[in-house]
Amino acid sequence: MKLKSQPLFNRKTISLKNFDLFQQELFERFKDKSALNYAQEAGYHYMENAADRAIFPLRNDLEKLNLFEESLPRQVGNDCEIIKQLINSGSPNTVNQLGGRYFGFVNGSVIPVGLAAKVLASFWDQNAAMRVISPISSKLEEVVESWIVDYLKLPSKTVAGFVSGTSMANFCGLAAARYRVLKNNGYDIVENGLNGAPRIRLILSDQAHSSVLKAVSLLGFGNRDIEWVKTDSQGRMLVEHLPSLDSLSIIVLGAGNVNSGAFDPFNEICDLAEKSNSWVHVDGAFGLWAGGSLEFDNLCLGMNKANSWSVDGHKTLNTPYDSGIVLCLDEDAMVHALHMTGSYLVLSQERDGMFYTPEMSRRARVIELWAVLKYLGREGIDKLLSLLHSRAKLFATHLKELDGFEVLNEVVFNQVLIACNTDQLTEEVIKLVQEERVCWLGGSQWHGRKVIRISVCSWATTEEDVRLTIASLDKALRTASKLS
Ligand SMILES: *Cc1c(COP(=O)(O)O)cnc(C)c1O
Repeated sequence: MKLKSQPLFNRKTISLKNFDLFQQELFERFKDKSALNYAQEAGYHYMENAADRAIFPLRNDLEKLNLFEESLPRQVGNDCEIIKQLINSGSPNTVNQLGGRYFGFVNGSVIPVGLAAKVLASFWDQNAAMRVISPISSKLEEVVESWIVDYLKLPSKTVAGFVSGTSMANFCGLAAARYRVLKNNGYDIVENGLNGAPRIRLILSDQAHSSVLKAVSLLGFGNRDIEWVKTDSQGRMLVEHLPSLDSLSIIVLGAGNVNSGAFDPFNEICDLAEKSNSWVHVDGAFGLWAGGSLEFDNLCLGMNKANSWSVDGHKTLNTPYDSGIVLCLDEDAMVHALHMTGSYLVLSQERDGMFYTPEMSRRARVIELWAVLKYLGREGIDKLLSLLHSRAKLFATHLKELDGFEVLNEVVFNQVLIACNTDQLTEEVIKLVQEERVCWLGGSQWHGRKVIRISVCSWATTEEDVRLTIASLDKALRTASKLS
């Protein structure tokens, strides 16, 4: 990469004797912009080469991480040198999620306008806590809330909180649930705390995501409060195994199983929950979007009868990190559960975002979410979901024909689970594929078997990417078979 040469690069560490000089230097940094220009040029370069870059840092590059091991500098430094260090030693040590061959976890790529909006928002450096701190953030949160509620066909009273991801969204949804079911039983948790509260029953699928367990634990519950419900071969909750519900029950359902992509039977369970006055929370980190799409909304039948929902922007929707949304039908429960007071707070008639999130100060992540939603529109979201699904289907079709691989799930959305004949072979294939760095795939466990999980989550995945990935898998299997 060619960078314009900058005289500042040659400058030694600056010695600043008094704070006026210190301040002057900072003003200089703002005026000078060379560090910003370096960052921008390197950013463009990074983006342009996304398709060709190794998917995971090379061994030599990983060694460069040692350069970051130093003690906190004594003196004020040189901003260009600092950015240069990030460009030279940081950039090669990123995982390349911008291209189309990252299938690990359920990690999305970035829709370009989202990146552009995030860059602009970085200059603004907004705090989304309250309307009075950032009118633009407040307005966009209001707009995006209504867009998402509308797209997902949720009840119009539903409110949204903009958080870092679904882990936090699950936490918020379950905090609201905890408040409401206790209140319904004549107990105010804000006033009395959890000590001495009626015992809440957490009804979880044996496939519940670990972030749900984290939220449960943060909210003061333990394993003994959980009643596990069995699932079918696809990981869907078996309604006939659901315990009888009551007004102290909180049920967590999944829209998109993190392994198989399967959706729980919302309709029946939500009806049962409604009859017994229980609360249903839906963890829909990547799958919730299906609820609004023409092609997939049949998977989400009855999902809108739940009480709260979680979804990520940074997975299926391909917004930049980090972006999660909690949706809750019961605004009162949500605001009480995440209550926040202070004599200096300036509340407005309009939206103050901090009432819907655990944090007070918070980056205005809604800006890039707004940009991506405005860019895609309904048709674009539908198309994006269909694209991810069709690539996942393509994987399944080809892998079924390939000797030595078995496809273990019905590909209803974007997830494909495959395995080789033995766990050992599967593990070896994962290792070899990761080492080749053409693509990145991770492992998981499925019905007691070691599996390879392919999560198609990037708008950039082409048929060619699918072909290259399958070729890498095939090559790895042949090598592994020879070794064993
Ligand atoms: C990814 C995921 C989560 C956690 O979401 P984060 O955004 O990583 O916090 C929760 N549930 C499911 C089903 C997921 O796929």
